[in-house]
Amino acid sequence: MAQLFFKYGAMNSGKSIEILKVAHNYEEQNKPVLIFTSAIDNRDEVGYISSRIGLRRQAIPIMENTDIYGIVSRHDPKPYCVLVDECQFLNKDNILQLVRIVDELDIPVMGFGLKNDFQNELFEGSRFMLIYADKIEEMKTICWFCERKATMNLRLKDGKPVYTGEQIVIGGNDTYFPVCRKCHTNPPL
Ligand SMILES: [Zn+2]
Repeated sequence: MAQLFFKYGAMNSGKSIEILKVAHNYEEQNKPVLIFTSAIDNRDEVGYISSRIGLRRQAIPIMENTDIYGIVSRHDPKPYCVLVDECQFLNKDNILQLVRIVDELDIPVMGFGLKNDFQNELFEGSRFMLIYADKIEEMKTICWFCERKATMNLRLKDGKPVYTGEQIVIGGNDTYFPVCRKCHTNPPL
């Protein structure tokens, strides 16, 4: 039985590297995979998975109304696994299509993303992944400022922490850092 996986972590917890690694492992055994990413990605060109260590590859961009189920079900050969980056930016309908890929096509889906935004609200995509996933796993990374585990994302604008505003800023010059709860509240800047 295929399963829906959700692997979440703060910024820089190695989510994109993990996707590229999983894809490589399948493909090394001649098992094709399909890789998707949200079309809302302000770090790079649309339709690419990029990791901080420099690896990069093309992915199918998911928009609000993308027929993800149709793309996967029509794909020949049938993929052994579906990998999805930036799940936090997906909507409920996108996630329900991932559920159907698992339940109706019996193909495992591994989704990766952030859980909470810079204001510590759940992203829509993450909310529904948390509800629908069979297996949920935290990808760990260390706080930018101290030794604790990073569970939150701090937004800085011109070097100053920001706690209000739009959830997703496209093309802004804001920067995000993985931080622990204490450093999110009082960043030692
Ligand atoms: Zn900290």
